[in-house]
Amino acid sequence: MTPEEFRRYGHEVVDWVADHMGRVESLPVRSQVAPGDVRAALPASAPEQGEPIADVLADLDRIVVPGLTHWQHPGFFGYFPANTSGPSVLGDLVSSALGVQGMSWVTSPACTELEQHVMDWFVELLGLPESFTHGSTGGGVVQDSSSGANLVALLAALHRATGGRTVRSGVEPGAMTVYVSAQTHSSMEKAARIAGLGSDAVRVVPVDGDLAMRPEELARRIDSDVARGFTPVMVCATSGTTSTGAFDPLDALGPICRDRGVWLHVDAAWAGVSAVAPELRPLQAGVEWADSYTTDAHKWLLTGFDATLFWTADRAALTGALAILPEYLRNAATDSGTVVDYRDWQIELGRRFRALKLWFVVRWYGAEGLREHVRGAVALAQELAGWVGADDRFDVVAPHPLSLVCLKPRWARGVDADVATMTLLERLNDGGEVFLTHTSISGEVVLRVALGAPATQRRHVERLWTLLREAHDWLANDFAE
Ligand code: PLP
Repeated sequence: MTPEEFRRYGHEVVDWVADHMGRVESLPVRSQVAPGDVRAALPASAPEQGEPIADVLADLDRIVVPGLTHWQHPGFFGYFPANTSGPSVLGDLVSSALGVQGMSWVTSPACTELEQHVMDWFVELLGLPESFTHGSTGGGVVQDSSSGANLVALLAALHRATGGRTVRSGVEPGAMTVYVSAQTHSSMEKAARIAGLGSDAVRVVPVDGDLAMRPEELARRIDSDVARGFTPVMVCATSGTTSTGAFDPLDALGPICRDRGVWLHVDAAWAGVSAVAPELRPLQAGVEWADSYTTDAHKWLLTGFDATLFWTADRAALTGALAILPEYLRNAATDSGTVVDYRDWQIELGRRFRALKLWFVVRWYGAEGLREHVRGAVALAQELAGWVGADDRFDVVAPHPLSLVCLKPRWARGVDADVATMTLLERLNDGGEVFLTHTSISGEVVLRVALGAPATQRRHVERLWTLLREAHDWLANDFAE
């Protein structure tokens, strides 16, 4: 494709994208295809001759779009938000077009330095500790996912806890421990497996009535493990758990970790970005105790996947665990020790220019625009929680300081509540106007309404509330018969 052809077809594709953004609300939120439908519509073999872009776009409409669940739909309230935005798409387009590979500073200095700079900006934007900046003992890096960030945090923690021994001789089987709560994201246990510690190394600390980790229980577990000869390596605290949005008390967990020499990692994948709004920062009071921290701009901060913001206050531990320098990558800049080579901060060697889309997003919205986005979702969630709490057909079942509301329909005595709630969920999702998901609290099924899609406005939340009540009344009658 020549540059002139690119210009022409590029305009067509951008038109297609803009049209899609404009019409997404008219599409069913959840894909309605059956398993195998998409593959059945595709030819068995790749085309022998090239095809016109117009044909590809036609098949996008015919085959791909019907097979999508529309995470950008204003009625998407499932799992967690997975934002994107115009400036993010444009930044990604430029990144794809430039096609640079940022594994080392020398392979594209701007790719590294823009990323360092944007990550330092975000330290300030989110009110994070100064120790996370590149001018200090730490630094930030864009990772592919919070799962990946949780893994590299654990590798850094292992490096520090063993004085670097793991790099040479791996982990000693059954000797090290990691602390989570039952609400911690499953990626942490996966990280323990990948790091060679195994699931048995993961200690599950009890939670309180708000589903937050209990500090005194954490201290007791660590001390008892030390007394039995284990080496505690890392505590993973969560700011905004996936299931209900609970916050572990960082200000109480921090001193426990510091006194015992244990790495404190904070997984704030979904909720961390809320700190752009200063009034929401008290939820993460004590964040200055963290040795590392992850939050996803690709969840709730207007940036398309993948854009995990990861910081550590101890970059020597991180690069100590991950740095490796084959001869073919040697260069004068690396040897000088004055540059950051991001390949030493992540699992992969190669890396895309992901900071570009963040840069586009921050420059387009400004700090004010980012705050407005977060505050808008929080305000809608509080309004919804108010309506639910005032209605005797529903209960709000967990604290909801941000934009996730967990609720449970009340059913008549004798009705199997879990079956009825799941039936209600399916009915809503089948309708195509909204999409929500569920979780379990104290063994009971509850519905999660996760706000934060950029397109969601008050009228969409009002509509959800109407649909919830209608479905409840319809099912209440049905189950009563
Ligand atoms: N940690 C938490 C608290 C999450 O909520 C999630 C996703 O929901 C993850 C980690 C995994 O995020 P990613 O998809 O970026 O790996």
